[in-house]
Amino acid sequence: GSHCDESLVTSAKIPTIKFTKLFINGEFVDSISGKTFETIDPRTGDVIARIAEGDKEDVDLAVKAAHDAFDHGPWPRLPGSERARILMKFADLIDQNVEDLAALDTIDAGKLFSMGKAVDIPNVASTLRYYAGAADKIHGDVLKMSREFHAYTLREPIGVVGHIIPWNYPSTLLFLKISPALAAGCTMVVKPAEQTPLSALYYAHLAKQAGIPDGVLNVVTGFGPTAGAAISSHMDIDAISFTGSSEVGRKVMHAAAESNLKVVSLELGGKSPLIIFDDADIEVAAQLALVGILFNKGEICVASSRVYVQEGIYDEVVKKLVEKAKAWVVGDPFDPKVQQGPQVDKKQFEKILSYIEHGKREGATLLTGGKPLELGGKGYYIEPTIFTDFKEDMLIAKDEIFGPVMALAKFKTIDEAIERANKTKYGLAAGIVTKDLNVANTVSRSIRAGTIWINCYFAFDNDCPFGGYKMSGFGRDSGLEALHKYLHVKSVVTPLYNTPW
Ligand code: ADP
Repeated sequence: GSHCDESLVTSAKIPTIKFTKLFINGEFVDSISGKTFETIDPRTGDVIARIAEGDKEDVDLAVKAAHDAFDHGPWPRLPGSERARILMKFADLIDQNVEDLAALDTIDAGKLFSMGKAVDIPNVASTLRYYAGAADKIHGDVLKMSREFHAYTLREPIGVVGHIIPWNYPSTLLFLKISPALAAGCTMVVKPAEQTPLSALYYAHLAKQAGIPDGVLNVVTGFGPTAGAAISSHMDIDAISFTGSSEVGRKVMHAAAESNLKVVSLELGGKSPLIIFDDADIEVAAQLALVGILFNKGEICVASSRVYVQEGIYDEVVKKLVEKAKAWVVGDPFDPKVQQGPQVDKKQFEKILSYIEHGKREGATLLTGGKPLELGGKGYYIEPTIFTDFKEDMLIAKDEIFGPVMALAKFKTIDEAIERANKTKYGLAAGIVTKDLNVANTVSRSIRAGTIWINCYFAFDNDCPFGGYKMSGFGRDSGLEALHKYLHVKSVVTPLYNTPW
């Protein structure tokens, strides 16, 4: 990839960091231990701020606050229209603070500022509004019983929810979880990722300003094995919603099983295939494939990390892809010309580079990239990287790399494409590029994945359920499906005419 040498690191837009403490019962507080941890700017490796390090005792306090708010507070008891009004206000406050919020995710996660400002943060507000619109339309059914009973269902908030959030989309993924849970009338404890705690604390402040009652939304910053594990193993949390790696998802589910059998939903890793057929527009297909893997520097669970191209256009697609990868601009995510910022931290940076080394040793052909980018000798930048001739049993094709690394292969028939696309433990998403409706429909139904994009990629929407098959997890974020995740169904049965039974 090419890169911007001048103004590697701009500081103009960096907001002052106002919120660095845990948010429990409506107040910003230090952790009980008094410990803090550093959050790092991946553009430079420099420390941005020290953040309160929550642990089990802090989670206990947050859960207690959430329980009190659920058992005795107004939130679950408010008419849905009232919760909606407050959530709409919360959304308005987010709109008024778009620049600050986008900048926080840029310095914390290396995300593109222009994208955050134009897309990610405004979408967070729109997600809140989507669920606010549903808050006064939550109702059960009247049942048709086979005997003489009057019976109906009630949908009730599931209780205290734990949300564990990853670092790649600190704002988007936070709101995919808290918005439906808030609309449902739940109370909650959120743990943002330790790499990206800044925006979640800012949102907590806005939630309070909007009028969300104390104790409804608590934020405990800290590490996974301590604060995260305290949430997943807590006896007084009713449900847990997790997004992150499959490895940690397994731990969360295990902790839930070992503790109180809380309801679990998991949105985990992916190794999503993009299948390009001979009749595709080559320019469009190459662009989809490239953006599919390089968007958000490959730190995206639905990245098109395996690309299958039919033999008739394979050579041309490869040529285009390499050209485009070389022209892709890597650099400071505050620079509007830049398309790819730094990887989130040193650990991810090194992990990605070690996968690239594996790929070379395993016998895949490196077409372009493969090295770190020395931008002023600082920061965690990696060249857009494309391997070809991969086999599904290679590590670079099996594991989620979570970086700008594409594995490319040639196929002959539709059956071969389906078979190879499904040869993965994951099932989060897939893409198909073809003008042939029959091919698109057949492949859509044959791929075991939660989302299929035909002639598009990353087409997310508030109304479009999102989640995994296989080891990509279960449960859906987005859409009304996600609202139901935070609702219990209660059946109420009463005999008619005092029928003896
Ligand atoms: P990644 O591997 O991409 O960093 P993780 O799955 O490790 O993603 O992290 C996602 C979230 O899960 C983060 O908030 C992290 O702190 C949390 N986490 C990590 N380990 C655990 C654990 N053992 N229990 C609960 N949460 C955890």
